[in-house]
Amino acid sequence: MFWDTARKFHGHECPGLAIGVKACEAAVEKMGVMSSEDEELVCVTENDACGVDAVQAILGCSLGKGNLLYHSTGKMAFNFFDRRSGKKLRICLKARNSGMERKAYMNYLLQAPVDEIFSFGDPKMELPPKAGRFPSIPCEICGEAAPEHKMRLQDGKKVCLDCFHDYSRGWK
Ligand SMILES: [Zn+2]
Ligand SMILES: [Zn+2]
Repeated sequence: MFWDTARKFHGHECPGLAIGVKACEAAVEKMGVMSSEDEELVCVTENDACGVDAVQAILGCSLGKGNLLYHSTGKMAFNFFDRRSGKKLRICLKARNSGMERKAYMNYLLQAPVDEIFSFGDPKMELPPKAGRFPSIPCEICGEAAPEHKMRLQDGKKVCLDCFHDYSRGWK
């Protein structure tokens, strides 16, 4: 059932989506969570691959609701936080594909028990406080408004991230 929901949302079948579906299954099994209409379940995903679509489709975590956050380590790992119960869980893929054909690997993932596919642990990050409303202020260069904490001070002006020259990162 999870698989159908995820497949419809994602648009195709692939091993990555199967990983996401199994991660959701693990979250449900180990944390007792269900789909999050009330934004109490937060996912911090460590990758932006196909599997994230399963988390959105099945558990209802989404960027727009503020309960899907992206912390890019590039690892095939998902962190779940249940704000209500305080439970948290990091789910990390351990059953990497060792030479299986794509379709065979996908089917293996879908059938295998979650403990065989993933290692489980504590998230390495703290959950940020619930997204509040921050006052927006206009950038003194381009005039576009952004929340205060996204603004930078440059030559005495409050500027947005587009206009800010971050020399430490070497854009130019
Ligand atoms: Zn895919
Ligand atoms: Zn600007």
